[in-house]
Amino acid sequence: MSNMAEITHEAPLILIVDDDPASVHQLNGLSRGLGRVRFCMSGEEALRMVREQRPDIVLLDMELPGISGEETCAALRQHLEPAELPIIVITAHGHPAREARALALGASDFIIKPFNPPVARARIETHLALKRRTDELLHLTQTDELTSLANRRMFDRVLDREWKRSLRNHIPLALLMIDVDHFKAYNDAHGHLQGDQSLQRVAIAMREVSKRAGDHVSRYGGEEFAMLLPHTSLHDAAAVAERLHQAIRACDLPHLAASATGRVTISIGASALEFPPRPDADGRPQERNTLLPMTSSSLVGAADLALYQAKAFGRNQTALRGLDASVD
Ligand code: GH3
Ligand code: MG
Ligand code: MG
Ligand code: MG
Repeated sequence: MSNMAEITHEAPLILIVDDDPASVHQLNGLSRGLGRVRFCMSGEEALRMVREQRPDIVLLDMELPGISGEETCAALRQHLEPAELPIIVITAHGHPAREARALALGASDFIIKPFNPPVARARIETHLALKRRTDELLHLTQTDELTSLANRRMFDRVLDREWKRSLRNHIPLALLMIDVDHFKAYNDAHGHLQGDQSLQRVAIAMREVSKRAGDHVSRYGGEEFAMLLPHTSLHDAAAVAERLHQAIRACDLPHLAASATGRVTISIGASALEFPPRPDADGRPQERNTLLPMTSSSLVGAADLALYQAKAFGRNQTALRGLDASVD
C-alpha cells in the first residue's frame, strides 16, 4: 500500500544543507539524538535528496554556491507545505529584511550564525515535534479506524491523482469495487461485533492480495471496499479479483444466513481505463476523442455497474465492465 501519511517508528530524518564543513559538523553535533542526519553542500543536491526521500526537517544555509538558499527554499515550497516539510534557514547575516524575505519564501524558522547550540537544538526539536503531530493527525484523517485501510477521502485523492497520471502517460488504470454479500443478514445472525471482525478479516485479505507497489486498497464505506490498480488492464484486474475471491474463501468465515455457501463471500465489479495501441507504422494518431468526456468518476461508475451485475447474477463472483464514453 502506498500514499498514506506514513506513521513510522523510525527516528526522524534531518537534512543539513550547508557548504561550510565546520557548520555541518556543528549542526550534526547539536542534532545528536534527535534523528538520523544526512547532509549535502548545495541546493541542487538538496532538491534531489528531498525528491528521493523526504526528510522530516531541512536545516538550510542561505549562503550556498550554485542555486542560493532562498531559491532552494522557494523550490522546495513549490511542492511541499510547511506542515509537510519544516525548513529552518541558517544565515550568517541576521537582518530583519532578510529574515522577512526567507519567511515569506516559506521558511519555518531562523537560526543566525554563530548560533547558540542549545537554542538551535531547541528550535529543531520544536519543529520536529510539530511535524510528528501533524503526521499523526494527517494519518488519522486518511485512515479508516476499523480496518486501518485508507478511508474514502484518501481513496478520492488517490483516484484523482492516478486518473490524471494514466491519461498523461497512456497507462491503464483498473478499479475493483468489492462488496460483502448479504452482510445485513450476517450482522443479524452473528451480531455487529462479529460483523466488524469479519470486515477486518476482509481488509487483511485485500492487503495480502494487493502486493504490487502502487496498488491502493481502501474502505469505500460500510461493507464496501475499493482496490485501485495502476498499470493494470481489465484482463489483469480480473485475475486480481479471482485471487481475492480465493483469499476470502481461504478465510473460511461461517455465515449462518448465506444460503449458497454458508460462508462469507464477496462480489466484485471491475472496470479499467484502457488505451488503444500507440500510433502504428503509418504514423496514424491514436483515437483519443472517446476519452475526453470521461472523468475519474466514470471509472467508479463503471465498476459500480459491474458490481450491480455481479450481485444480480448471483453474488460471490466478479463482473467486468470496460470504460465507454457513454458511462458518466
Ligand atoms: P448485498 O449482498 O446485496 O450486498 O446485501 P447486503 O446485506 O450486504 O447489503 P446492504 O447494503 O443491504 O447491507 C449492508 C450492511 O452492512 C448493512 C450494514 O449494517 C452493514 N455494515 C456497514 N458497515 C458496517 C460496519 O462497520 N460494521 C458492521 N458490523 N456492519 C456494517
Ligand atoms: Mg554557506
Ligand atoms: Mg453494499
Ligand atoms: Mg453487501
